[in-house]
Amino acid sequence: MQMMIADQFLESVSGERIQINNPATGTACGEVPAGGGEDVDFAVQAALDAFTPWATLPNSRRGGLLYRCAELIRREADRIALILTTEQGKPLREAKDEVYGAAAVFEYYAGSASLVSSGYADRLPRYGYGIVQRRPLGVCGAIIPWNMPVLIAAWKIGAALVTGNTLVLKPSSKAPMAVLALGEVMKRSGLPGGVLNIVTGSGNLVGDPLISHPEVKKISFTGGMETGRHIAGVAARTMKRVTLELGGNDPMIVCSDVDPVAVAEAALLLRLYNCGQICTSPKRLIVEDEVYEAFVTHLKRRISEVVIGDGTDPSSMIGPLNSEEVRSSVEHAVWRLGDEGAEVIMGRIPDTLPRKGFFCLPALVTGCDGDSPVLQEEIFGPVIAVINAGDSDEAIDIANNTRYGLGASVWTQKIEVAERLAEGLEAGIVWVNQHMKLPPEVPFGGVKGSGSGRENGLAFIEGYTEEKTILISR
Ligand code: NDP
Repeated sequence: MQMMIADQFLESVSGERIQINNPATGTACGEVPAGGGEDVDFAVQAALDAFTPWATLPNSRRGGLLYRCAELIRREADRIALILTTEQGKPLREAKDEVYGAAAVFEYYAGSASLVSSGYADRLPRYGYGIVQRRPLGVCGAIIPWNMPVLIAAWKIGAALVTGNTLVLKPSSKAPMAVLALGEVMKRSGLPGGVLNIVTGSGNLVGDPLISHPEVKKISFTGGMETGRHIAGVAARTMKRVTLELGGNDPMIVCSDVDPVAVAEAALLLRLYNCGQICTSPKRLIVEDEVYEAFVTHLKRRISEVVIGDGTDPSSMIGPLNSEEVRSSVEHAVWRLGDEGAEVIMGRIPDTLPRKGFFCLPALVTGCDGDSPVLQEEIFGPVIAVINAGDSDEAIDIANNTRYGLGASVWTQKIEVAERLAEGLEAGIVWVNQHMKLPPEVPFGGVKGSGSGRENGLAFIEGYTEEKTILISR
């Protein structure tokens, strides 16, 4: 596949390419250009050239174009989803969910176009009156990861474009192809050249020139904490705005008044979605005393029934992890939890599992210590870690005992308990009797080390525009 810059699909200036591996087989499934600084310069120039015509379109025209993109994405969902499964590893049904989710995001932004409006300040006796314009920032940059590339790209593209900005997007080198397919579909929907540019390549060779480029006014980043810290530092030198979503270590608090079997089943399905590689996956299940035994007993039975296999096989409940690097870090975490004294029960290895893929058996780890240093960190894989809490006060203390603060959930039938716990949880979003649900209508982002700034909801208006006041004396 090729990069998308201005009106064209291109190779990189260097002519070099990056091989993309299918995580289910460990073998090549495609190639993309290995971009560099000159490609970034070219893309930023294309985005600059496209900016004024795009920014001065009526909001409804930009919204209309995003509607058309959503329509075509839905029509081509099967094709994009297959590319996504092949390069990322997730089951095909999850890949389709993701592509449909991206279409819904574009519909949300299309429908919100009219909210991007200017204001008026009247009755200022000594000053006259003011017009408060809401203006786009200019060329924005987006850097995204490999775990949910199509959905995360849609969040950033929808918000930037509907507000009148143009965008240069860098996908992860571990899963860039579905994003390129998304871009190509958007272009075919009528998006003018240069409004969205996609430059493939590594973080060092494409990411760094993008975050330090003087013409780029904002960087929206989703990925790891260390990279986020680096981006914030570099972007500060050119006074860019930065939005960072840096992962999570979400607690799921299970109170004593719930049906433990039903909630344990929900926890299993949520935690294993995308093979556990989701920033808002419930990574620490904190279960109150009275329901702990029944909760764990259900999980012990179910963990051996989890079917692991190639994402294109409809019987696979989970696919492989995305890379060998992720697999070894997850296996290391499980091994350390066992060393700390937790009980580890592994899932079953099917005979048919391809031998070369980055498969990782799901692990149920019970009796975890709430203070475990391993559980302070994000485990990006199919590890179901259960911690016993005496009561809800202890549960909150354990839940907040991490440097992350992205999502959290409370499972209870008592609204007063839900409200009290939600109040005490340090997180950007708290779910009650659900987890990991992110409709584009609500703002999303973290506190503490999970980052800063919000995506979706109405946060996009503030995030992608600036106000300019014109004060006119009478
Ligand atoms: P990274 O933060 O390294 O990658 C995310 C994106 O940032 C990729 O596009 C990457 O490019 C790019 N990048 C890397 N270095 C730079 C740089 N110097 N300048 C600009 N861009 C850069 O995450 P990983 O994929 O390595 O995952 C590490 C950990 O982060 C995971 O184990 C998980 O804990 C967390 N994570 C969180 C996610 C979330 O949703 N918040 C998503 C994915 C991971 P490239 O890879 O092409 O070099």
